[in-house]
Amino acid sequence: MDYEELGFKCGIEIHQQLNTEEKLFCNCPVELEDEAADANVERYLRAVAGESGEKDEAAEQAARRSQKFVYNYYSRNNCLVEIDEEPPHSMDEEALETALTFARMVDANIPAEIQVMRKMVVDGSNTSGFQRTAMVGLDGKLETDSGKVTIDDIELEEESAGVHERTQEEAVYDLNRLGVPLVEVGTDASIKNPEHAREVAEEIGMLLRSTGKARRGLGTIRQDVNVSIDGGSRVEIKGFQDVENIDKLIELEVRRQKNLIDLGKELEKQEIVGDNVTHHFEDTDNHIVSTVLENDGAVYALKLPGLTGKMKQNISGERYLAKELVDYAKAEGVQGILHTDEDLENYGLVEEFGKVAEDFRKEDEDVIAVIAAEEEKAKAAAQSVQKRAEMIYTGEIPEETRAAEQNFTTSYSRPLPGSARMYPETDIPSIRIEDEEVEEIDENLPRTLEEREKQYREEIGGELASQIVGSERLGLFEKFKENYDSKLVANFFTNTLAQLEKEYRVKSLGEQDFRAIFEGLKSEDIAKDDIEEVVERVASGEKTEEVIEDIAEKKASEDDIREAVREVLDEKSDMVEEQGMHSQGALMGVVMARVEASGDQVSEILQKELQERVD
Ligand SMILES: [Zn+2]
Repeated sequence: MDYEELGFKCGIEIHQQLNTEEKLFCNCPVELEDEAADANVERYLRAVAGESGEKDEAAEQAARRSQKFVYNYYSRNNCLVEIDEEPPHSMDEEALETALTFARMVDANIPAEIQVMRKMVVDGSNTSGFQRTAMVGLDGKLETDSGKVTIDDIELEEESAGVHERTQEEAVYDLNRLGVPLVEVGTDASIKNPEHAREVAEEIGMLLRSTGKARRGLGTIRQDVNVSIDGGSRVEIKGFQDVENIDKLIELEVRRQKNLIDLGKELEKQEIVGDNVTHHFEDTDNHIVSTVLENDGAVYALKLPGLTGKMKQNISGERYLAKELVDYAKAEGVQGILHTDEDLENYGLVEEFGKVAEDFRKEDEDVIAVIAAEEEKAKAAAQSVQKRAEMIYTGEIPEETRAAEQNFTTSYSRPLPGSARMYPETDIPSIRIEDEEVEEIDENLPRTLEEREKQYREEIGGELASQIVGSERLGLFEKFKENYDSKLVANFFTNTLAQLEKEYRVKSLGEQDFRAIFEGLKSEDIAKDDIEEVVERVASGEKTEEVIEDIAEKKASEDDIREAVREVLDEKSDMVEEQGMHSQGALMGVVMARVEASGDQVSEILQKELQERVD
């Protein structure tokens, strides 16, 4: 595809969680553990008018869809701030310094005063109903192989609560994640093509990790993509996590917009007819529909002219046209739609659809689509689908928020949120940033991971260098590599620990423990073979130095035993020759009389030494 000719416009937003000690506005730890919630708190959301007096459509839809919010509370990672029962504390300095450092790495300007703002959130992902966010940099620059892009703004904000479960009636959120510092980096819309978008996303991710304060693992970095083409509309794809495939995602969204525009040109504009058709379904044998009607539900139908054969037409990747409508029905809380462009015999609804078709004067090329649900929901869904279907005939693309699917297509999730949703956070005073502070940050900018990998390649080889630079233990490697064998240190922090992590709680080991292990290896108190034992015992609560001492002592006594065994074997060589391995019982008694050690240990060494002589 010729993206320039298509009028391709694209900007991305990267959200990176920070691995600071504490959360952004309270002193709870950022590091999350796999633990069960200790309690839960329930809240309800009302669609309220914003500052401007206008109701937010996204808020209203969220309110229609799910009224009750349940918050899982984790005492290890939560305090009163996360449940909005205590005002936020002042902004975490480590997080601010990290965000400012990133800002200067992309040559962004830092505002003289940093003001925390409240950004309204309507989906319940924050207990307070808003997210705190502060602009920390603007007008930065970035260049990749495909070209330049401007970093419009860099924000430091609090992470939302993670969705635990969402049902028709309620949304359950986990509060442990709420308040983790998050750096949001937004580019302008000058990205040239999907490939360029991937380069920019990868470069921003690399620079964020270069600060040494980026969290790692699933969900710790997310991308939002804004994309449109001429004749299409701005669509925002939220929360994409797979940066390496961001180009595929964008390409498929462009195809969707282009195919929908083309289809609009192909179709004649005709009127959609819609009505309540419950009476045609009253005697239905279809189990789903009859259950709906028994519960005072209703059936709504729409006539979609000229769409026969088109509902199953692919519009991007594996996505077909009907999905555009189904998504809108689902957004109103119904299960889906049934229509005449699929095999109705499977549903046992041929007769009922026939009556509706007659009623609506359906022609062959027209599609009848039906929604059966609770009266209110069915009606809202039918209206919503009708509105969306009208756009199909004009080739208009709705501006909306979409979610990425596994196959890199996207599905509708909600209308684009309105923009006037920010107001100052009065609980937190603004922070002045002096010129000297910016100068100091500039003098201490970290080298990028790319630069470091280049250097380490020469020190420890290409493969290890790439592994250690991609590892969350890069900082530890850099701390120890000068004083100990750098290859050994790199190997330890990548391969060795990765292996041991599968069995032991390696997380409970800290810098001091690692230092003790490297010292032990250097002084030969322990050997590489002993590392597993050290980690195992330290992870289960023993002190590192004591474990190492213990192993070293045991080694010494092993040497003593071996010496005694060899002595006895020399003295009793006749017996060994005559009886072979059968002499072991008798020799055992002789050795035991000479050394102070456990029978097991003596037996093991004796057997080994004896075997060697017999062979
Ligand atoms: Zn807290």
